[in-house]
Amino acid sequence: MKKKPLRLLPEAIKQLTQKPATSKYPFEKAKVYPNFRARILFESEKCIGCKMCMRVCPSKAIEIIISDTQPAAQTGPDGNPIPQKKKFDCIMNLDRCIYCAQCVDICPKKALKSSEDFELAQLDRTKLKLHYK
Ligand code: SF4
Ligand code: SF4
Repeated sequence: MKKKPLRLLPEAIKQLTQKPATSKYPFEKAKVYPNFRARILFESEKCIGCKMCMRVCPSKAIEIIISDTQPAAQTGPDGNPIPQKKKFDCIMNLDRCIYCAQCVDICPKKALKSSEDFELAQLDRTKLKLHYK
């Protein structure tokens, strides 16, 4: 079969003149799209300790524990104690999390949410265990 070296010329010119399909990350900041799922954030004041997030997590990456610091006891005008909402902490194991956001979807109090923080690589594995208070 006879070769036609110039056959590729139009394609080569096209590739040289159009924008690259790849990005220059990490030299340029990566574009993050809406609903991106990266590190999970936790808001302790919203959490009611139902542990639905723990039950639904496929990789056992999330743990909800009773916080060491609980709100101070309050007394009503009648002298009776006013029940206080318990405070919960969240332990997040980033080395197990697969960022599926099932915990976010199931949380009835919107105490969990996905962030855009995806640059989580670590040499020290202990730094991948986060304690949100
Ligand atoms: S599902 Fe939400 S409210 Fe329930 S324990 Fe988890 S974070 Fe707290
Ligand atoms: S994002 Fe998925 S894997 Fe990570 S803690 Fe939530 S449910 Fe578990």
